[in-house]
This record gives sequence, structure tokens and C-alpha cells, in this order.
Amino acid sequence: MRGTIPTSCHSVEWAVAVGTTVTPMSDFSPSTDQLVELNAEFAAGFADHDLQVAPLRKMAVVACMDSRMDTFKLLGLENGEAHIIRNAGGIVSDDVIRSLCLSQRALGTREIVLVHHTDCGLQKVTDDGFKTQLEQELGIKPRWSVESFDDPFVDVRQSMQRLLVTPFVDASHMRGFVYDVTTGKINEVTID
Ligand SMILES: [Zn+2]
Repeated sequence: MRGTIPTSCHSVEWAVAVGTTVTPMSDFSPSTDQLVELNAEFAAGFADHDLQVAPLRKMAVVACMDSRMDTFKLLGLENGEAHIIRNAGGIVSDDVIRSLCLSQRALGTREIVLVHHTDCGLQKVTDDGFKTQLEQELGIKPRWSVESFDDPFVDVRQSMQRLLVTPFVDASHMRGFVYDVTTGKINEVTID
């Protein structure tokens, strides 16, 4: 599979977009083999075999995919207690609404927690700039929105508003937060 992937893959474009140093592809080596070995160690000490599929706290968390955020750890959650739905930005997309709808109707969750964060990758791109870059390189613009933003607090409010207006999700027990990547603290966002 390696070698058939064009060298101009998304990781390079993303690095250009956020103004960071581009890592040459030759410096990259896949880690999955190592992860498979680490999983063997994990499975050797596995003790979660009796957890139920329905989250114990009846909670679903929607968070950004940022690699610095351990969603369970930062909220003090244990396995089996909450659904975690993550994407770039932690934005409320149609697929997040699909997941929340299933979480609530099929697996009984009632409470929603949104966690965006400071220094997000989506603050470093613009919708138009990113999509134009893709079009110039690939000849086609994606249909999806990049959902870039300037202020994570404003973006949490936007996500909360979307959940308040969709008929598919009950947002009557919903709280929103911005995680500070420099302190580990979450700061609550309120909507009027
Ligand atoms: Zn982020």
C-alpha cells in the first residue's frame, strides 16, 4: 500500500496550511506494528470484560480529535461510563447528530457534554483557504464544510445551538466547555 499513496497527501497540505514545518515523507514510518504489540500487553491485563454496552452515566461527550486531549482522563471518566464522539473541532456535524441520536435512543444516554479546546487546528485554517488549496491540488473541492473558527468559546455556542434545533437529539441536559491545553482546565460556555 505504501508507495501507491501520492506524496502530496493530506498531512503535507495540512502542515502547509497551519504554517508548521513539513515533515518529509521519508522521516515517516508507520507505528501500527508497535501498537499491535502494545495491545498484547494491554489484553494480558484486561479487566473490563463485564462492562455493559449502555454507558453507566447515561452520558455522551462530543470532543475534538486533538491528540493532547485524553477525553476520559480530563473528565475523570472510566471505561463504560460515557460515549465519546470525536472529530476535527468537536463540531456538531450530521454524523455527530446521527451518533447522538443512536446514543440516546438505542443506548439510553440523556446528558451531553461538548468539549472544544484552545489552540485548535481549526483556528489555523480558513474554510475558503483550505478548500481552495484542495481544489488547486486535486482539481475538486469537497462538499463538506471545514468548519474553521476563530474563537473556541463561540464555536461551542454554535455547536450547542445546533443541538437545540435538531429534532433528532434531546439537548435538555447539555453543557459545553473549552479545555485549556496549557492548564488542563475546562471552562464552561453558556448560551443565553
Ligand atoms: Zn481541535
